[in-house]
Amino acid sequence: MDRRKGSGSRDANGGGLAEATASRLRFEDADEVAEEVGMEVEVEDCPAAAAAEEVIGNDKTSADYYFDSYSHFGIHEEMLKDVVRTRSYQNVITQNNFLFKDKIVLDVGAGTGILSLFCAKAGAKHVYAIECSQMADMAKEIVKTNGFSEVITVIKGKVEEIELPVPKVDVIISEWMGYFLLFENMLDTVLFARDKWLADDGVVLPDKASLHLTAIEDAEYKEDKIEFWNNVYGFDMSCIKKQAMMEPLVDTVDANQIVTNCQLLKTMDISKMSSGDASFTVPFKLVAERNDFIHALVAYFNVSFTKCHKLMGFSTGPRSKSTHWKQTVLYLEDVVTICEGETLSGTMTVANNKKNPRDIDITLKYSINGQRSKVSRTQHYKMR
Ligand code: SAH
Repeated sequence: MDRRKGSGSRDANGGGLAEATASRLRFEDADEVAEEVGMEVEVEDCPAAAAAEEVIGNDKTSADYYFDSYSHFGIHEEMLKDVVRTRSYQNVITQNNFLFKDKIVLDVGAGTGILSLFCAKAGAKHVYAIECSQMADMAKEIVKTNGFSEVITVIKGKVEEIELPVPKVDVIISEWMGYFLLFENMLDTVLFARDKWLADDGVVLPDKASLHLTAIEDAEYKEDKIEFWNNVYGFDMSCIKKQAMMEPLVDTVDANQIVTNCQLLKTMDISKMSSGDASFTVPFKLVAERNDFIHALVAYFNVSFTKCHKLMGFSTGPRSKSTHWKQTVLYLEDVVTICEGETLSGTMTVANNKKNPRDIDITLKYSINGQRSKVSRTQHYKMR
């Protein structure tokens, strides 16, 4: 699964591979926010482009898209139509010309080239748009059609393998966020580009990303997605239930389901952090705001652009307008009966999977010593 492909969604949008099946983001969850034709480069192991490399234009088959979902326009359509996402970037760029005027910009993972086009319109001196999927060919055409060939150079290739015609850039812009913020691990690519090409006084956009946690009541959906396996047409398929429990569900959560406060787990400063900072263990304390049952914890992220004239950004939280990233639901083994004011506390460990660094392993330790529930448990999840 890549970040934009759903692993089962309340919308039941199924999931043809060629379809943008992403089941994948304002500051309404503000309580916690306070806080040319360039060179052709051989594409080898772009997250997924190897197999698609031999296939040109309309000759693609589903197998090619399986290996290179970003080559299909569907995923880009979905991202572009995510107005919270795309408008946020557009507003950041157009309302903060001073960040771009006469600057050299690097667009990491340019896709259709949309961010590069915004930057060119905002007066950038030159934009280097790097894209490893077949969409790079479209980006070249789009740049030309819109009359920006002099300003934007699309480079087809992996950021980690291409050569830039300039030694340093003033701005790095990227939309790298995956489900649960870190899934797909494109952050490493942005950090690589930053360390290699960003000038000392350069800026990374966005420069802050934070992960947040809350707890929800979700009896009905847990029954449908998890307990379902107990009795399938009279057969016990509960062995699958264990797997289903381990896979975080990317889906939209209704704000009414929220039982506790929302807690900030981790803030990352993209301009300073190292790759290792994306693996961490952090404590949490969720305090119930009403008497209810807790079936799952829900993670989401916020992104901010602190270098703007005014702080800008967006949230993918359940109280904000929904985005294609939705939220990430982690079902609990236990149904926790929690009383208003009681605390569900624990730690969350997030790490890249050792075998496949694009996958994420999450370990949740939680406990409550309440009036109606006394539980202490460790659960492991894998996003893949
Ligand atoms: N900037 C575009 C696309 C964002 S999606 C937009 O905002 O609409 C991320 C893009 O990064 C995808 O098109 C993917 O193919 C590309 N990508 C991911 N890893 C990359 C890498 N290592 N080198 C070059 N491109 C990469």
